[in-house]
Amino acid sequence: MATGSINVSVENIFPLIKKFLYSDHEIFLRELISNATDATLKLKHLTNIGEAKVEYGNPRIEVKVDKENKRLHIIDQGIGMTAEEVEKYINQVAFSGAEEFLEKYKDSAKDSGIIGHFGLGFYSAFMVAEKVEIITKSFKDEPAAHWTCDGSPTYTIEAHDKTERGTEIILHIGEEDTEFLEENRISELLVKYNKFMPVPIKFGTKTETLPKPEGAKEEDPAPTEEVDNIINNPSPAWTKQPSELQDEDYKGFYRELYPMQFEEPLFNIHLNVDYPFNLTGILYFPKLGQDMSMQKDRIQLYQNQVFVTDNVEGIVPEFLTMLRGVIDSPDIPLNVSRSYLQADGAVKKISSYITRKVADKLNSLFKNDREDFEKKWNDIKVVIEYGMLSEDKFFEKADKFALYPTVDDTFFTFEELQEKIKENQTDKDNKLVILYASDKDEQHAYISAAKDKGYEVLLLDSPIVSHLIQKLETSKENITFVRVDGDHIDNLIKKDEETISKLSDEEKDALKVDLEKVIPADKYTVQLEAMDSNASPFMITQPEFMRRMKEMQQTGGGGMNMFGNMPEMYNLIVNTNHELIGEIKDTKTDKKKERLIKQSLDLARLSQNLLKGEELTEFIKRSFDMIK
Ligand code: ADP
Repeated sequence: MATGSINVSVENIFPLIKKFLYSDHEIFLRELISNATDATLKLKHLTNIGEAKVEYGNPRIEVKVDKENKRLHIIDQGIGMTAEEVEKYINQVAFSGAEEFLEKYKDSAKDSGIIGHFGLGFYSAFMVAEKVEIITKSFKDEPAAHWTCDGSPTYTIEAHDKTERGTEIILHIGEEDTEFLEENRISELLVKYNKFMPVPIKFGTKTETLPKPEGAKEEDPAPTEEVDNIINNPSPAWTKQPSELQDEDYKGFYRELYPMQFEEPLFNIHLNVDYPFNLTGILYFPKLGQDMSMQKDRIQLYQNQVFVTDNVEGIVPEFLTMLRGVIDSPDIPLNVSRSYLQADGAVKKISSYITRKVADKLNSLFKNDREDFEKKWNDIKVVIEYGMLSEDKFFEKADKFALYPTVDDTFFTFEELQEKIKENQTDKDNKLVILYASDKDEQHAYISAAKDKGYEVLLLDSPIVSHLIQKLETSKENITFVRVDGDHIDNLIKKDEETISKLSDEEKDALKVDLEKVIPADKYTVQLEAMDSNASPFMITQPEFMRRMKEMQQTGGGGMNMFGNMPEMYNLIVNTNHELIGEIKDTKTDKKKERLIKQSLDLARLSQNLLKGEELTEFIKRSFDMIK
């Protein structure tokens, strides 16, 4: 047997880096600015602990485009490198000086905000540059070094006369990547990735208007001044302590994040943990519309204030992806696939921490100002209901503050609702019957019939409500939800005494035959019921189970498609105690009888919004004929 080691030839590595390391060419700028930031923060740390005996001052990073010479410059005033350090850190691909620094200063530097990890960031420059130069002067008393590399594995290094501390990276942009010589493009990248980085970043200058000097005339133009254009906010709200921030600061930060968003957020949640993982951030509840798919991908993920992505799938539970804001954590592994992320233990912990924080915040809003919480309910319910469906832990917590509004805008918690209806809304099996409507206008007749009997009717109108109801029925005991038009209330809710039928069994049989002659059997099942004489004579209901299954299929879930393909079936409930039914029974001529039944059926259909098109036109014509 022979053993050997696989020989990786350096010539092959550069093209690999260029092609595959990062699928996105544009991130080179983020990487170089991260290095510049690290270099600055390292110097800050070393001056803080007294290891660097230099003035830290107010260092910043500058980005300059030199279109004419096809160059891009990134200049920092950080720690710099000696020639020896360049050899060590730059010439060894995949040796991360950042990791080494953190290892060396383990105890003091863990909160210094240093970004680098993989020892590959610098080489991403070769994705866009054919040649890269580094001119660098260490904070130590040593001459500056000048390193040049044209993308082949050979480089040159020589002395340089740079005197001020820090590093300048010069990229000679290649033919294919000249977009990175456009000011607009660079500006767009800086805003996207670097907007909240901790060291000020200068990009060009801007004109600022100064106050007019005293005694200036009205027509005199205000004086102006060219000032550095700093593109970032080095201390964004999420890096501060909640106690330092007022409501206005949170709103201001929201505008900073979403300058095109005019609506104010409803409330915010400040995240702040350092054990067992590091995570900070601010989440906002925006006003949400009904269309849930529109609202995703607004949360931005950062690592040490560097923008990483706005796809937080797998990190934040699905139902919270409708929120907005920022999450910043150095502990989220990024160079791995999304499916791996979901299985990662640390990420799972992060996800459940966020869920818990959101639930706690909602609970305290509910407890501290219920009235305000009720006002906001319609704008936040989709998230909460979705969360209750998808996360059991959230369900448990939300059960205490989730609200169930009635058609008259009274808001109950589930417990309050049970208490309220336990006396007079039970069915034959002693289950609580929770009546609800999904549309006040369309179900008006049914709602008012229920209210006349003193029942509470909820208004549940979010798109996932059928799923939520299903969930509530399985997780709670002895309750059943029925939409107001799902069955006739008198059949549903137990009454103290039976209503006595005015018709004999023979009369009923004859009536049924007459009705079924006219009423299409493929759509309606005729049911004769003895009810209150002033309850509706004809009423169309759609069995709750059937309707709910169809709805659930439309909004996703429930693998089978069988309910979706089923024809619409309804019950036609005929109240045999109503005067009109007596009249139909006693009508002598078949023709007249048929007309009465048809008209009654159409009226019932009208109240369910089922009469449309040609049938509606005919109905109206027939009605006019009858009253003329
Ligand atoms: P990483 O940042 O992950 O450590 P890089 O390949 O981006 O890896 O950089 C390698 C090392 O080169 C850094 O860790 C740092 O020591 C050094 N370096 C890179 N850029 C600078 C800079 N602007 N100033 C000082 N040192 C730098």
